[in-house]
Amino acid sequence: MPELPEVEALAHHLRAHAIGRTVVRVDVASLTALKTFDPPTTALHGREVTGANRYGKFLDLDCDGPHLVTHLSRAGWLRWLDTVGAAPPKPGRGPLALRVHLGKPGQGPGFDLTEAGTQKRLAVYIVSDPRQVPGIARLGPDALSLDADGLRAVLAGRTERLKTVLTEQSTVAGIGNAYSDEILHVAKLSPYAIAGRLDAAAQARLLDAVHGVLDDAVRRSVGQEAARLKGEKRAGLRVHARTGLPCPECGDTVREVSFADRSFQYCPTCQTGGKPLADRRLSRLLR
Ligand SMILES: [Zn+2]
Repeated sequence: MPELPEVEALAHHLRAHAIGRTVVRVDVASLTALKTFDPPTTALHGREVTGANRYGKFLDLDCDGPHLVTHLSRAGWLRWLDTVGAAPPKPGRGPLALRVHLGKPGQGPGFDLTEAGTQKRLAVYIVSDPRQVPGIARLGPDALSLDADGLRAVLAGRTERLKTVLTEQSTVAGIGNAYSDEILHVAKLSPYAIAGRLDAAAQARLLDAVHGVLDDAVRRSVGQEAARLKGEKRAGLRVHARTGLPCPECGDTVREVSFADRSFQYCPTCQTGGKPLADRRLSRLLR
């Protein structure tokens, strides 16, 4: 799932390549992706792109009044094309959800919003203000803007596990399953630590890790021109999606905890005092 660094890199690309261009045509290939009806997609036609922003994991294209807002969800992506084909796409086939022409169709550039797989959860909104998107209205402070006071406020009184609090978008915006694994590993904190009980030293490590991991990932994703790739491509992960491989820090074996539809990874030596965390799926099988 694209998280803050990938979405930031896509916004960066749109700032560099889409601003100043006019939305000539919008092709809707998946009606289920479109979550708003008024204004219609044609309200974007003839509008100049004046900005591209990120709100948490939402991507916003400002079209000088109306905004085209996208949540890429689990398997969505934005792919920039230097030349976009003129033929209207066939609805309901393949990964294409929405196509935006930023020049004469067949000659000018633009981008596709695509979604791989069968679970169609990519969401597109056309609104006059991004805060009209419910998911954006609910967002907590952006992870990149967190300072020591902000983090203290986020954690205060929270009895949930750190992993849960960090990935909850209404608490802190932008961090998902992959980067929370990375952040917790760099901070040497257990995913199951109770968020409200971190001491000052642990909070300082966590804050450093949030900025270090995310800044580094944004730089990497911008550097590989994310919007020219077919989908999200991450490099340099330390523990996430590395179950069974050696921890780059200490050499211990990276372990995972699995749930029905997702899993997360951690290093016991670096993060949990050498003790493996209970894996609910596994313990259910053993019961
Ligand atoms: Zn380790």
